[in-house]
Amino acid sequence: MAHRVTLIPGDGIGPELAEASRRVLDATGIGFEWEVVDAGEAVMEQYGTPLPDHVLESIKRNKVALKGPITTPVGEGFRSVNVTLRQALGLYANLRPARSIKGIETRYEDVDLVIVRENTEDLYAGIEHRVGPDAAESIKIITRAASERIARFAFEYSVANGRRKVTAVHKANIMKLTDGLFLESCRTVAADYEGRVEFEDRIVDNMCMQLVQKPDLYDVLVLPNLYGDIVSDLAAGLVGGLGVAPGANIGIDAAVFEPVHGSAPKYAGQDKANPTALILSGALMLRHLGYPADADRLEAAVRDTIASGVTTYDLGGTAGTAAFADAVVERLVAGVDAAAGAAR
Ligand code: NAD
Repeated sequence: MAHRVTLIPGDGIGPELAEASRRVLDATGIGFEWEVVDAGEAVMEQYGTPLPDHVLESIKRNKVALKGPITTPVGEGFRSVNVTLRQALGLYANLRPARSIKGIETRYEDVDLVIVRENTEDLYAGIEHRVGPDAAESIKIITRAASERIARFAFEYSVANGRRKVTAVHKANIMKLTDGLFLESCRTVAADYEGRVEFEDRIVDNMCMQLVQKPDLYDVLVLPNLYGDIVSDLAAGLVGGLGVAPGANIGIDAAVFEPVHGSAPKYAGQDKANPTALILSGALMLRHLGYPADADRLEAAVRDTIASGVTTYDLGGTAGTAAFADAVVERLVAGVDAAAGAAR
C-alpha cells in the first residue's frame, strides 16, 4: 500500500529541492502517494493567508509531510508559516542531527551531534508589541509541561538510539525564572534515566564556544526554542553547512520533515542548491514511518555520492540540484552497500 505524504514544496529554492527529493524517495521503492499543497506568499492572494486550512488538514489527515523552506518577510508582513505550522499542529520536538560526511572538508572528521529543540514556546511564541514609538517588548514563555515534554523526548530518543548523554543548554544564570524553569524541568526528567543516560547542563554562550572547539565532548543537546534554532545552525556549520543539515518536527499526531535551511532566494530556479538536507530529512521521515533499513540505504547512497566527489556549489562541486539527485537515485537503484556507505 502506498504511503500518502503531504508535500509542501515551499518557495525560493524549495520547489527544485522538493522535486529532487521526491525522485530520490520514489527510487527507494517504498511507494509514496504525494499530496502536493502550497503555502507562503504565493497563496496569499488566493486564500488571504499564507497557511490555508487545507494545508493543515492535509497534514492532519496524512500524519506526515515533507516540506521545503518558506520565505518569511523580515520585520513586517505575515508571521512565519514555519513557526505557525509547528504551533498549529503541536509539533513540539524539532530534531536536527549533525553528523560528519566523508568527502566534505570541515574542521572535524567525526562530529555526531543531535540537537533537540523545543518547538512551541519561548520567544517564538510571537507575543510581542511596540511600547510607544521607540521601544518594543517580546514575551518569553517557558512552561514546565513543555520543558519536561521536550526533555523526555531527548532522553527517549537517546535510549532508542543508543546515545550516551543529554546536555541541557540554557541561560539560567541571567534568566533565572524562565531558563531556570527549563533547567529544573530537564533535571526532573533526567532523574528518571539515571544510570541509563548521563545528564549535564551548559550555559548557551559557553556551549557555542565548546562546540566550535570540542564537539566530540557532546552527544544529544536539548534546548529551548531560540537557542535551539541558533545552535543547530552552528552544528550544521561543523559538518558542512546548511546544505547538508536535515530536520524533523515531531508531534503526537503528526510530523513535518524539513531541512534546517531557509529558501535562499538568490539561488532560486538556478538548479544550484544542495538537495542533501531535504533528502536526508526524507531519510528521517522513513525512520519515522518504520523503514530504518531503507533510511540507512538512502543515507548510504547520499554519503557515497558525496564521497565520490559529486557535490553542489556549496561543497565546492559543480553538480546541479537535479544531477546530484540523479547520482543518488543511480546508487539506490544499483543497491549501494548500505554498510559501506554508512561507514563513510
Ligand atoms: P538561508 O538558509 O536561506 O540561507 C543562508 C545561506 O545558506 C545562504 O548563503 C544560502 O545560499 C545558503 N544555503 C541555504 N540552503 C542551501 C542549500 N540547500 N544549498 C546551498 N546553499 C544553501 O537563510 P536566510 O537567508 O537567513 O533566509 C532566507 C529565507 O528563508 C528567510 O525568509 C527566512 O525566514 C526563511 N527561512 C525559512 C526556514 C524554513 O522554511 N523552515 C528556515 C530558515 C529560514
